[in-house]
Amino acid sequence: MDNLEKICLHTITTKPWPIETAVRKFREAGIKGISVWREALADRDPSHVGRIIKEEGMEVVSLVRGGFFPDRDEKKRQDAIDQNKRALEQAAALSAPLLVLVCGADPRQSLEDSRKQINEGIAALLPMASDLGIKLGIEPLHPMYADTRSAINTIRQANDLAEKIGSDQVGVVVDVYHLWWDPDLEKEIQRCAQLGKLFAFHICDWKVPTIDFLNDRVIMGRGCIPLSRIRKWVEAAGFNGYNEVEIFSNYYWQMDQDQYLKEIIEAYKHNT
Ligand code: ZN
Repeated sequence: MDNLEKICLHTITTKPWPIETAVRKFREAGIKGISVWREALADRDPSHVGRIIKEEGMEVVSLVRGGFFPDRDEKKRQDAIDQNKRALEQAAALSAPLLVLVCGADPRQSLEDSRKQINEGIAALLPMASDLGIKLGIEPLHPMYADTRSAINTIRQANDLAEKIGSDQVGVVVDVYHLWWDPDLEKEIQRCAQLGKLFAFHICDWKVPTIDFLNDRVIMGRGCIPLSRIRKWVEAAGFNGYNEVEIFSNYYWQMDQDQYLKEIIEAYKHNT
C-alpha cells in the first residue's frame, strides 16, 4: 500500500486530455506532481500553464523532453542545440526544475560518435541551464532504441557521462522500462545516488508480449518489471523524489481516460 504523496504523472500518459483537463483531473485524483511533455504545450504560453499548475496546488517535476543531439550533419547538430535552448526557455517559463534528455542517435554513424556528440550537446547547453537553474537529466533508453533514439543505453553509460561532464547541473533519469533488465542496475543506482546525480524516477511496466516497441507499455503490476524491488533500491540509495508514471500506450489512449486514471491510481497504491 502506498499513499499518493510521491506520485507524479506525465502528460503523455493521458495523451488524449488537453493539459488543462489533465491538470484538473490529476488534482482531483490527489496527484501532486506533473511532468509536462512539450507536445502538451503546443500553442500555449508555458508561463500560463505553469501558473495553472501552481494554482491547483501542484508541482511541475520536469519538462520532457530535450536531447536528440547527434547528427552526422554539423548544421543539424547546431539546430538541435538551438531547439534545446528553446526547451530550456520553456522549462524556465513553466517553473520546471529539470529538463529530461532523450539523448538521440544517428544510425549513419557509430554509437561512439553519437555519444561524443551527446557530450558536446550537453556541454553546449550547460551555461544556459546553469544560469536558469534548470537541471539536465540524461535518460538512458533501452538498447532497442540505440538506432535513432539514444546512444546512451545503460545507467552505467549515463553515470559515466554525467560524471565526466562533472557539473551538479547534469544527472541521470532512471526509467524502469529502459533499465529493469540490467544486472548492474542496483549497483549503478547506488553509484548514481552517491554521485548526487539521481534526478528522477520513471515507472510503468513491460507488457508480455510487447507488440509495439514504442507505444505498448502497461500499468504497473501488469508486466514483468520487478518494480517494488527497483523502487526499494532507489529509495535505499537516498532518492526522495516523485515516482513518475510515464506510460505510452495506443491501447490505454483509446480507453475512457477517467477509468484509466482510476486504474493507474489503484495500481500505484498496490503494485509500486
Ligand atoms: Zn522515462
